[in-house]
Amino acid sequence: MQTVTNLTELIYIRSPIKILSMIRSLFILILLHFSFICLAQSIYLHCGKLIDVKNGKVLEKQTVLVENDRISKVLNGWVEVPDGDILIDLKQMTVMPGLMDLHVHVESQSHAKSYMERFTLNEADVALRATKYAEITLNAGFTTVRDLGGSGVNIALRNAINQGWVRGPRIYTAGKSIATTGGHADPTNGYRKHLGAHPGPQDGVADGPQECKKAVRQQYKNGADVIKITATGGVLSLAKSGDAPQFDQEELNAIIQTATDYGMHVAAHAHGKEGMKRAVIAGVRTIEHGTKMDTEVMDLMKKHGTYYVPTITAGKEVERLAKQPGYYPAVVVPKALSIGPMIQKTFQKAYQVGVKIAFGTDAGVFKHGENAREFEYMVEAGMPAMEAIQSATITAAEVLGINDEVGILEGGKFADIIATPENPIDNIKTMRNVKFVMKEGIVIKNELN
Ligand SMILES: [Zn+2]
Repeated sequence: MQTVTNLTELIYIRSPIKILSMIRSLFILILLHFSFICLAQSIYLHCGKLIDVKNGKVLEKQTVLVENDRISKVLNGWVEVPDGDILIDLKQMTVMPGLMDLHVHVESQSHAKSYMERFTLNEADVALRATKYAEITLNAGFTTVRDLGGSGVNIALRNAINQGWVRGPRIYTAGKSIATTGGHADPTNGYRKHLGAHPGPQDGVADGPQECKKAVRQQYKNGADVIKITATGGVLSLAKSGDAPQFDQEELNAIIQTATDYGMHVAAHAHGKEGMKRAVIAGVRTIEHGTKMDTEVMDLMKKHGTYYVPTITAGKEVERLAKQPGYYPAVVVPKALSIGPMIQKTFQKAYQVGVKIAFGTDAGVFKHGENAREFEYMVEAGMPAMEAIQSATITAAEVLGINDEVGILEGGKFADIIATPENPIDNIKTMRNVKFVMKEGIVIKNELN
């Protein structure tokens, strides 16, 4: 009503023609105002418990008021629901912000014949299957993910989700990881020579600062939101070393400088110490896996404000699968057996030392939808449940630079809301049993009964 008063005042000081147009605007404004009141149904969520991730507290008996795609208010007590509005009864549940996984690969999911898919699946196959994985992820309570590399189909999937063509989490994608020749994300490692066709910066394989710049710019052009690099060898590539550095300092500097210029942050896959150090010095925002991180690297990360994204679940899973004969190619097995089991210990140390930790799992290396296993491993290694939840909400939003929009339940934020049957502070396993999911004000899953 404030707006109307101001307009009425304005009318007296304008010319007759202006007055007519002002009256018309006023009329339209009033109409819009009333149609808004009539059409928009508010949703009231009566929450038994609500996790206030900002203050690290569990609140009792709260009401979250949702209007359109946003939270308008969080109120004390279970407030009365006006006629015509909608009540969702979560009185038996613990409610919290939608979760964020900063390390997923939504295009694929490990199985014993995964390595053949490069030859057997077309882009369309990958894309259609990815829609399934995206939906499973969202249903597990993960309303935002960062996809750290696939063939580039993940960009189309992000767009399709944003358009509402398919259901899935909000995706921030790296498109295709950037690697050196023979590096962890060189897509032709292990191919027959004539199938390799010499991938270049356009395909995400780059050597020397100039090519590195080009590779970053190409990902931007393709539609990537963030840049992912493979700073060291990796477990699942068809190459011998899992932890040797793969970019030199000059190349890394060129990558981070270019990405920064284009408004993107850089995530670095890294298992070995030297590659990690170089990446941190160059200014990456996150270190992924960080397996052989020692206190020197941890101190360096603290100094540079680098976040650690641990992916403990992936480590445990590759170790388990490597023990199944024939599951992985022979060159992968020793890497999986040595690197896999180390991550949880590294996480424990990093947490004790005070490195900033953001939640990420490497889903795709294991089954999509099981992302919440990570919470259990984090808590097992000594992180309090509240902090583990914060790492997947408020901290993850910080990494993505979207903490104005998501990560906390408060007025003005997107209505990304989930609920579990138990209080995860008492039983962290309940994070794997998400019963209610709302994304941007739309109820995606409701299994309350
Ligand atoms: Zn990964």
